[in-house]
Amino acid sequence: MTTRTHPVDGELIEAAAKVARTRCRGDNHTMAAAARARDGRIITAVNAYHFTGGPCAELVLIGAAAAQGAYELDTIVAVGDRDRGVVPPCGRCRQVLLDYFPALEVIVGPTGRPRGVPVADLLPETYIWADHRLDTE
Ligand SMILES: [Zn+2]
Repeated sequence: MTTRTHPVDGELIEAAAKVARTRCRGDNHTMAAAARARDGRIITAVNAYHFTGGPCAELVLIGAAAAQGAYELDTIVAVGDRDRGVVPPCGRCRQVLLDYFPALEVIVGPTGRPRGVPVADLLPETYIWADHRLDTE
């Protein structure tokens, strides 16, 4: 594991926490995510729970960012509603985030001790989607 030495993006954590506090409602929206785009903007989103496999906040955020013209994300964090604090990404999100943004930093860790880790460190020895696409050769 590689822990980056620079301070974590506290503004990003607060942005996700604010969305979690103010926008998460009932069982459908229980997680918020915030990402720092390459141009400095903060993009936020909430999950869209559904028993068929509704997307996590991180995945909704990728689409929301693209809809705003932000195709490169540098850092992402997810925060749970009901003051659950920073929540690490699930396995599906780790894979998607790695495939979309190989250099992404993910903020993880307990409340009061957040740390940024490269997304690749969250999926050691992983399948790399781009390596198996025929049009990448
Ligand atoms: Zn997820």
